[in-house]
Amino acid sequence: MALIVHKYGGTSMGSTERIKNVAKRVAKWHDAGYQIIVVPSAMSGETNRIIGLAKEIMAEPDPRELDMIASTGEQVSVGLLSMALQAIGKKAVSYAGWQVPIKTDSAYTKARISSIDDVKVKADLAEGKIVIITGFQGVDDLGNITTLGRGGSDTSAVAIAAAMKAQECLIYTDVDGVYTTDPRVVSEARRLNTVTFEEMLEMASLGSKVLQIRSVEFAGNYRMPTRVLSSLTDPLMPLAEEIVSGTLISFEEDTNMEQATITGIAFNRDEAKLTVFGVPDKPGIAYQILGPVADANIEVDMIIQNQSVEGKTDFTFTVPRADYNKAMEVLNASVKAHIGAGSIIGDAKVSKVSVVGVGMRSHVGIASQMFRTLSEEGINIQMISTSEIKISVLIDEKYMELAVRALHKAFGLEAA
Ligand code: ASP
Ligand code: MG
Repeated sequence: MALIVHKYGGTSMGSTERIKNVAKRVAKWHDAGYQIIVVPSAMSGETNRIIGLAKEIMAEPDPRELDMIASTGEQVSVGLLSMALQAIGKKAVSYAGWQVPIKTDSAYTKARISSIDDVKVKADLAEGKIVIITGFQGVDDLGNITTLGRGGSDTSAVAIAAAMKAQECLIYTDVDGVYTTDPRVVSEARRLNTVTFEEMLEMASLGSKVLQIRSVEFAGNYRMPTRVLSSLTDPLMPLAEEIVSGTLISFEEDTNMEQATITGIAFNRDEAKLTVFGVPDKPGIAYQILGPVADANIEVDMIIQNQSVEGKTDFTFTVPRADYNKAMEVLNASVKAHIGAGSIIGDAKVSKVSVVGVGMRSHVGIASQMFRTLSEEGINIQMISTSEIKISVLIDEKYMELAVRALHKAFGLEAA
């Protein structure tokens, strides 16, 4: 019998009414002959509430203790959902991560899954039970409870689907799929029927918040077909209709999709850039500048180093805006003192806009079309970075929405 994993996000689990709807939807799939594992998130707002309590006690909560409590939201969800299923006549059983067990490393608040035991769960499924497993949490080798990072239930679901060899992983959420761009910015944005996992990976890392990026990595590594669907539709809608209502994350080779050159426009408003002028152009300099930034746990994204003039060059990089002040402090303290660079300047009002699409591999002229569109809108490009399937530009945050709308139009993304 085919196994399907369902994941429900916080909004979908947001009230007992909604949990009853989830139960109806799950029961419908079970009645259709599938084995079902459900991985829910905490009820919406719950994880934030718990972390808030911790911060009232300790400004920087101890990570082990934080995981001990942050993981409890999901524990409430699984128990309630199991009851909701039992209340409508289904056999159901809930498990916390440590009961399965879902083993992780000991990196509290951002643990990585190392293994998932399938023995207990497979036995339950064989007995006709619907199995409900907490998202977000796991257990390390010493028995400490860990969590997988914010939004980690997506990763739990895909990892469980892979470990249990499910046919598909269905991620039910408060949007009905993956769009060409954020519909709040471009009202003509269109839902994609399919997106390749590589595109999804780029979009997740470029600021699209539909799925936690690690879950997309799992989907790719284990080739787990993963579908994003709305949980806000009628829970009893016919299966055949439901299954085509979202976005399937697919594998390029598997599909003979008609390939658009560009699949989507991603953006990230909250970027900041820092430039060190007059850096000596010699081996080890990039390391000396960025080493201390990495040591401060700040993620560096775009980097450029100019052609050197008389042995000196300028070095520019971007960081998340939330880390801007810290990055500036690090630079001022270490770089200026130790490598004899000139001045440091920064700008925390920049945004990144990216065009993404596997079609780029086989089409030329995407970059020039992107740059022409931006120039026609009078938007200055400050930095550029590319990969095989994306081109990103850094621009003044004032023009971000304009750029997204213009590019969406220029690449014909509103047309079906
Ligand atoms: N409850 C966790 C969070 O709010 C995990 C999740 O919802 O995926 O981040
Ligand atoms: Mg989420």
